[in-house]
Amino acid sequence: MISVELAIASINQEVKGTSHHEIIPLEKSLDRVIAQNIHTPIAMPPFRQSSMDGYAVYVHNLITYEIIGEIKAGDNHTFELKKGQAVRIFTGAPVPDTANAIVIQEHTHKKDSTLYCENTIAIGDYIRPIGEQIELNNLALSPNTTITSSTIGFLAGLGITTVPVYKKPSVSLIITGNELAQPGEKLNKGQVYDSNSIMLKSALTQLGIDIVTIHHVPDNYEDTRHLIASTIKQSDFTIISGGISVGDYDFVYTALQEINVKELFYKVKQKPGKPLYFGKKEGHFIFALPGNPASALSCFYIYVRNAIFLFENRNTRHLNGTLKKATNSFIKKGNRAQFLKAYTEGNIVEILDSQASSMLNSFAVANALVYLPEEKQQITPEEMITVIPIS
Ligand code: AMP
Ligand code: MG
Repeated sequence: MISVELAIASINQEVKGTSHHEIIPLEKSLDRVIAQNIHTPIAMPPFRQSSMDGYAVYVHNLITYEIIGEIKAGDNHTFELKKGQAVRIFTGAPVPDTANAIVIQEHTHKKDSTLYCENTIAIGDYIRPIGEQIELNNLALSPNTTITSSTIGFLAGLGITTVPVYKKPSVSLIITGNELAQPGEKLNKGQVYDSNSIMLKSALTQLGIDIVTIHHVPDNYEDTRHLIASTIKQSDFTIISGGISVGDYDFVYTALQEINVKELFYKVKQKPGKPLYFGKKEGHFIFALPGNPASALSCFYIYVRNAIFLFENRNTRHLNGTLKKATNSFIKKGNRAQFLKAYTEGNIVEILDSQASSMLNSFAVANALVYLPEEKQQITPEEMITVIPIS
């Protein structure tokens, strides 16, 4: 049995960022990770642009100017100004080459075609020079940037329509358990509904992984071994639910050994999720999660998500958690590290009831996990504790 810290360190060491990338449409790229340098095909702004509504002027020493025309945003005609002349201009419009300042309209008044400037004018006022934001062919964004709405806006503003992003991992789920019925079916005595398939699939959807193959297998050794052996080849990650504990009908561990999966760790000194397994074979990663739904989900957020983020070349620093103030107390039984379902808002965090690994009722309303390390026995109100986001 290894500690939580060593288990996470093992994942950090083993899972390398993928080098595979694909070019996708900009509008589909939200939350993906940029895989190559992106250079801008245009300067931004592409022309000398007025940043205010007012007058473009060719500065001289008098306060009066002769207005000779008008340029609005989108116009592509221009004027040849002589010293002392001005054109009416609007935000975003191209500034004539001969104009050397914009006077904002609030600082002027006008009589017929004569403009009176009320303040002193500095050369260059309110003119955005070509390439002020970024010059032609310069680096706009570099690899490992996670694409947000503002990234998309920035690239769209440069006229870019496609982006190179790292490939998402392919993921397969294997759900073990003779006792499982699917929601919607009649529940016979001895059966429970399968929470984990749809729950883990949703947790993957939350990470932007939509294509997930789900396999079900009864608790028998041969079927388990065959299914695992064929599935792991097909996916970057195989996530197995249940059958990894020590019961007579838990066949996952023996099957993984039999098919020569390299064990990286098995059993973590934590609650919930002690029987967690992580291994690899020929570049494919395998997580076996305990079947108890809260254990499975807790292990997903703490370990599997971390591994997927590493694979995607995504920054995982925020998964280390932040310190927040506890509103209530908690006393730990035993000496394993513990992940507690919690609800956080702002800088405070409340530990929820129903922490048992079989129960999802508090997880259903939780938005964070609180980490209680091995050496820490209790939480007292007002104390600062480690909170890991799950949403
Ligand atoms: P296992 O890890 O296979 O020993 O399962 C531990 C507990 O989790 C048992 O009570 C199972 O019935 C339950 N369980 C296993 N898989 C699922 C699942 N997919 N959905 C809901 N409960 C499950
Ligand atoms: Mg089972």
